[in-house]
Formats: sequence, C-alpha cells, structure tokens
Amino acid sequence: MTANEYVKSRFGRFMGECTNEEIYTALLEYVKEQAKEKESSQGKKKLYYISAEFLIGKLLSNNLINLGLYDEVTKELEKCGKSMADIEEIELEPSLGNGGLGRLAACFLDSIATLGLNGDGVGLNYHLGLFRQVFEHNLQKEEPNPWITPQSWLTKTDKTYKIHFGGFSVQSRMYDIDVVGYENRTTKLHLFDLESVDESLIQDGITFDKSQYAKNLTLFLYPDDCDESGRLLRVYQQYFMVSNAARLILDECTAKGSNLYDLADYAVIQINDTHPTMVIPELIRLLMERGLTIDEAIGVVSKTCAYTNHTILAEALEKWPMHFMQQAVPQLVPIIFELNNRVNQKYHDPAVAIINGDNCVCMAHIDIHYGISVNGVAALHTDILKETELNHFYRLYPEKFNNKTNGITFRRWLLYCNPQLSSYIEELIGPGFKKDAMELEKLAGFVNDDAVLEKLLAIKEARKIVLRDYLKHTQNIEINADSVYDIQIKRLHEYKRQQMNALYVIHKYFEIKEGKLPVRPITVFFGAKAAPAYIIAKDIIHLILCLSEIINNDPQVSPYLKVVMVENYNVTLAEKLIPACDISEQISLASKEASGTSNMKFMLNGAVTLGTKDGANVEIADLVGEDNIFTFGESSQTVIDRYARADYVSRDYYEKDEELKRAVDFIISDEVKAVGCTQNLERLYHELLNKDWFMTFPDFKDYVETKDKALAAYEDRKAWAKMMLVNISKAGFFSADRTIAQYNDEIWKL
Ligand SMILES: *Cc1c(COP(=O)(O)O)cnc(C)c1O
Repeated sequence: MTANEYVKSRFGRFMGECTNEEIYTALLEYVKEQAKEKESSQGKKKLYYISAEFLIGKLLSNNLINLGLYDEVTKELEKCGKSMADIEEIELEPSLGNGGLGRLAACFLDSIATLGLNGDGVGLNYHLGLFRQVFEHNLQKEEPNPWITPQSWLTKTDKTYKIHFGGFSVQSRMYDIDVVGYENRTTKLHLFDLESVDESLIQDGITFDKSQYAKNLTLFLYPDDCDESGRLLRVYQQYFMVSNAARLILDECTAKGSNLYDLADYAVIQINDTHPTMVIPELIRLLMERGLTIDEAIGVVSKTCAYTNHTILAEALEKWPMHFMQQAVPQLVPIIFELNNRVNQKYHDPAVAIINGDNCVCMAHIDIHYGISVNGVAALHTDILKETELNHFYRLYPEKFNNKTNGITFRRWLLYCNPQLSSYIEELIGPGFKKDAMELEKLAGFVNDDAVLEKLLAIKEARKIVLRDYLKHTQNIEINADSVYDIQIKRLHEYKRQQMNALYVIHKYFEIKEGKLPVRPITVFFGAKAAPAYIIAKDIIHLILCLSEIINNDPQVSPYLKVVMVENYNVTLAEKLIPACDISEQISLASKEASGTSNMKFMLNGAVTLGTKDGANVEIADLVGEDNIFTFGESSQTVIDRYARADYVSRDYYEKDEELKRAVDFIISDEVKAVGCTQNLERLYHELLNKDWFMTFPDFKDYVETKDKALAAYEDRKAWAKMMLVNISKAGFFSADRTIAQYNDEIWKL
C-alpha cells in the first residue's frame, strides 16, 4: 500500500483533500505499520543502553529515510500539491534531552539498529521534557514543553512494574518507540512512565510540587536542582528509571533461558554517564531476592555493566548525600555499604572509596569498581581521565579504561538535513558512503576540480538562503544571506565560552565604529539554552541578546555585523543551521569539552572549524591537517597546569590588554544597561574580572586574531571551497556506525 492509499483508507480521502494534520497522523501510523513489518534484531545476548536522556529529534522524515520511503512519499505529496516541509512542521520535537549526551544516545540507537545489533535503549518518558525557551526583555524564560499528542510515536505496552521507594510504591508502565535502522532491522527505545503522573501539579512556568513523588517522577527532565528538593527528586527519578530497567532485563533474560548466574551471557548494560549508576546495586538486590548470595550477585553484575564518562567537570560527577539514599531508596543502602566496604578492605585508599568523607555516595566510583569498562568519548578526554581525573582508578584497573571517540548518524546529519549536498556527493562517488562513511575519502580526488569546488559553494549558498527563509518564517529574524555565517550552537556553559564569542562581537562593534570595516558582512549566530538555575549562563544569554538589540539597530554597524540568538535551540533548528554554516565555533577551554559532536556535524556539512585543541577537535585537526582548520588558544596541558598551580588572575590580563579591557568594560556601559538589566550585567562583569574560571582572557587575543584570519581566508573562495571539501572527505571517521562497531568489538561483544 502506498502512503496515499493508506491516507485514503484512513480518512476516505486522498492526500490532496486532507489537512496537513490529517496527513501527518496518517503518515505516522503508516510508518509505525511499516516498522512493525521489519525484522527486529535478535540474539542471545542483548545490549541495554540506559540513559536519562534521548534527544531523538523529530522522527517522521528520518524514519521514512531509513525505511527507504522518503523520496516516494515526498513525490506523492508533491503530486497532490502538498509539501513534506509543511507536514514536518506538524510534528512536535520530543525534548527528552539537554544536549550532546542525549543526542549521542539518539545517534547510537540509529547506528545500533542500522548495524543490526541486538540492543535497546532504556530511559524515561518525561511528559514535558526539557523546558521550551522564550526570550522576554532580553532574558531567558522557561515554559513547559509538552510533546506527547494523542497520536505519537509512543506505543503503550502492557509491561508494568511495581517500584518501591522509602515509604511508598508506584506503578510504572513501559512505552516503546521503534528505532528504524537504515535499510536494516529495528530495535526499540523503551521509555518508562509513571501510571499516576499528574500534569496538574505544574504551577507557573516549569515550577511544580517537587515533593509529590508518586505523581511527578516523569513530568520533567532534570528538574531545577538548585535546591535540596530538586536534587532529591533526581534520586527518585534515577531509581525509577533503573529499577524498571533492571526488572525488564531480568525478565527478558530469564525468558530466554538465563539461570541468572549466567546473566552476562544474555545482557550487557551500557551506563550513559552516572545517572543510571543505581542499576548496579539494584540488580544486585534483585538477584539476591531471587536467591543469589551477595557474593554471587556482585560477581554476576560486575561482569555485566560498562560505564561511559562524559565530563571531567567536578560538579557534573554526581555525589548523593547518604541521607538522600536513606530516604528515597533505603533498600539500596546496605548494598552500597557492602560495595564500599569491599573497596576499602581491598585498597585502603580514601580517594577510591564509594562513600566519601562527607558521607556522600560517589556514583562514578561504583561504576568503575563494579563495571567491566570505563570509556572516555574522545582521545584527549580519555587521556585526561587516565592521567589526571581518574588516575587513582586507572592505576588499579588499567585494563578497564578505553576510548570510544563519539560519532553522529549520517542519516540525520547529512542525508536528511542536507539532501542537496548528499545527492551531489552521490553523483561524485556513488551511494556507498551511506553505508560505509569512510568512502567519503574518495572526494579527496576532486580537490583540484574547479567545477566541483564551485558546486560546493553553490550548495552552501543555497542552504544559507534556506536558513534565512526559515528563520524569517519561524522567528521573524532578518538575515543577509551574503554574509559569512559564523555559528555557535550548544548548551550555554561557561566552559564552552559563549562569553568569549560575545567579547569578540563587542570588539568588532568597536572596530566598525572606528571605521575598520569587514570586507564582507558577518552574521554571528548563537543558539543555547541555559539550565534554569545556572545564573551566570543566563547572564551570558542576556548579554548576547542585549548586544543583538544594540548592534542590529545601529545603522552604522548593522550593515557589517549582525548578532542572531535563535530561540529554543533544539534538534530541528540544528538541522537547519548546520548545513548553512561557514565557520563552526568550537571554542571550549582546552581540556573541558569531553568530545563535542556538533563539531562533527558541521564538518560533515562543509563548515570549517574555528576551535581550541579540545575534545574531538584534536582528532578533526589530525584528520584534516592544520591547513584546513583554524586552531587557537592555550593547550590542555597549559590549562591543567594552571589549575594545579591555582594562580590564575583574570584581572592581570584585563589590565595589560587595552582591547580586551574595552570589550569587557562595554558589558557595564550605559549603552548596554539601556537595553538590559544592570544587576545581571554587573554580575557577569564581576564574574569575568574577579574569577573567569574558564579562562577566556588568556585566549581572547589569539581568538580574535584567528577568527579574523578565518574571515580573511573566506575571501579566497576557491581555497575555502578546498577546505570545505577536505573537511567533508575526512568526516567519515565520525560516523556513529564506526563508534558503535568499536563499542561492540571491544565491550559489548554481541
Ligand atoms: C549535536 C547537538 C548538541 C551537542 O552540541 P555540542 O556543540 O557538541 O555541545 C546539542 N544540542 C543539539 C540539539 C544537538 O543537535
């Protein structure tokens, strides 16, 4: 049955006579039916990828592509005067993730299905997900972001569990989303929900009664954790997730014949960051309930779990106070004590203890002692883990440590988001790259072919116009498509240093005021959400929005410089921004960005990176060579040494650099205060001047010079096109298919 016939059978009318909403509903059902007919991956051993986040993005078009139906359906729609773009707009994006970590989990599911591996995702079905960001008076405001509609990708299953907490218990239910591999099998994303969830607990914006656990556990992703009740709620959420996951795993494995002693032959659990760590004591507890001794249970679980570390930022390595555990999950407390005692008896080293001197449970330490594998997410990150952050553990368990450099799915981040580029690549080197990304290397043969280089520039130009039109249509933003598109899109965090980019903008503003004009207009794009309780991050957004207002309304400056902060940055916006990008901003403080994945998406779409030698940028630089990337800034070793000496004084840099001083002072100038809030601006100014924990000042001068070098290089269009081509041709290494194949070869062994 074609899609049009399906629509007819569903509504009694062909597509041409249906509303876009009806077509969307019918296509959703059509895709679900098609997915059901696909073979699902099978096997004795199964991977459970447990993650608190899955930032999956809209699914309709991506699923159609993976089912091989996209072109056909698009044509059918066009024949009836409809457009796929309009249908896509009906779908709401599930906001089940914050950023990179959740997006990585989504890319991994795509690759697991595409490679035909037997593996499912397990997470939570947050009804409101992450907040929706709106700007009011140049400030971020958070609104609830409901995404579950009566017809959705979720399929209700009849799997329910009773989950016990200290003092009460709740009923859970599992919902499934089909994950369709590219021209291959399907797997599932299992999302557990609370049967008794109550959306009426939400008061104003995203505030809600945090103490009503039996009704709130699956309302929001990561509730505001600035206060004790928010942090405690996270413990409840995490246990809810992993207790469900553990029960599902035991059910599935015993159904396949496991006697529980041989669980590791049936299941491998990948723990995505520390959020699912309690799966370890919970599995031990459940195995003991089913008759294993504690020795046996610990032995079995220690062969089953593997841990991925995503950050070296101390505040992100979870440590839960023991009294939280006592209140929320008292049944785990004796097991955690036992795990801690065993570690202490064996190693006598407080640095590797599970319960630390403050009586907090160090979640990562459980993962490392009682798991089979600890991996970092880029070569530099893994080296830093081994040599610095987790060095105590590395010396105990060198064999557990390994690197799995992150990757992205090329189905979404090339085939779907940039069909113009994708089909041109296919014209040049054939379709093989869609299954084997390393075939992109074949493009290197065209590096001196003028016609190819010109076509690459033409595609970029076309995509810049698409973005211009999209932002005009959706956010009423005006953009000059002849300007250079310089883009920084990622979560707002001081270590990612959007504030340094903002200082560059101020610097350019002054130069233009003085008559030093850029040869070509520049549009600096930002897209970023700040965690609701992260004050300085919100102040940085405030500064950027103020700069945008000042600069865009200044008739002297705006013909040359424009600042665009897109509202509510998410996967859907990323899919529009990335193909249009000229310069990819990857300017984190060296050593702090574990990997990054937007750097990979940009490179694949022919943007040139302006970045520090951090995370996967290092591997990008190695692949493309120093001539095809703009790197700047202090090395990770310099940064690590300075932190160790604890002698950084940002004011010294400020006093010695006139241009930096001028830019920083502008933050609290009358001009900015006229459009902003004095309190926010002064707070940010003082933070930079008295702390600047992520060391923007030492890198500022090099950043300005290197960005100006990149802008100058852009003017040699042919040389730039060569850089684009080299970047695309070397992007194959960053396919998530490669990453997942390595996880499987070295850890999962499915
Ligand atoms: C890829 C992606 C990220 C990760 O970006 P980084 O720059 O690597 O931090 C975050 N959010 C969205 C929507 C993404 O698509």
